[in-house]
Amino acid sequence: MGRINNRILNIIIYVTFFSFTYSFSQLYFLGNLNFVKDLDMIVGSKVNIPASWKGTKEVDKDIPILILAGHADSQGLSGSGTPGEAVHKYGKNPMSPEISDELFWNLKLQSSIVKLGKKRGLDIRSYDPLIRNIDDANDPRTNWSVGKKFAKKGGYVIEIHFDSYGNYGVGAGLIPPFSEVPNTIDESIAKKFGRFPIVFRGGLGAPRRQIRILEIGKLEGYLEKNLRSLKTRQRTIDLLANEIVQAFLSGINKNGLSNPTLDEDDTFLPAIYL
Ligand SMILES: [Zn+2]
Repeated sequence: MGRINNRILNIIIYVTFFSFTYSFSQLYFLGNLNFVKDLDMIVGSKVNIPASWKGTKEVDKDIPILILAGHADSQGLSGSGTPGEAVHKYGKNPMSPEISDELFWNLKLQSSIVKLGKKRGLDIRSYDPLIRNIDDANDPRTNWSVGKKFAKKGGYVIEIHFDSYGNYGVGAGLIPPFSEVPNTIDESIAKKFGRFPIVFRGGLGAPRRQIRILEIGKLEGYLEKNLRSLKTRQRTIDLLANEIVQAFLSGINKNGLSNPTLDEDDTFLPAIYL
């Protein structure tokens, strides 16, 4: 009897020890998987096409900034934006039945950038056409028509996007304006997110209207998981918004560009926001 009891005790000890180790490793694993703070990890692959432009043109300290959400006026048309890897490849439910997952995230990030930008003293605003299907790109209510007008008056206009997953997408990066000289804000954003060549796809519709396009990253992997998980969604959006606002500030203030601490220590939100 004593030997059998010992054996049972050994098994109990073994199982207890194993399950503790297992739960600890799971905790550690999920902790890392659920929220990766590093911008490069979150953003994933960046554009890998040679680009030689440098944004050297200085901008006015009070330059007005307009943030557009990509595909806000083209739902249901061919350019509705990527459904993302989770929906298209793994059959998950879309974030909203009405709009593409890309637009869903574009809108969330747009409002977060503007809120944070205002707090940090930028002259920043957003535009949302609210009508989700405008057939004619030159209709005065489209993103591009409003953006073109804003840029003509000397403002900085940027339309945010998430790229398609896998081989359907190219990766993160800034597509600069087509005929305007790239400025120090463009440079600051390209340094963080990557740099598309000016002639990318022969000059897309937006850059031809002097509207910058920022591809945040492919809607896949870590980025998409961190956005979809309720535990990490707000932190991920805040982190991306903070990186973009920080890039605006560095690009506008020349001293900011040459201040290494701005890029290193100030890129993350204070703990209170996380
Ligand atoms: Zn897009």
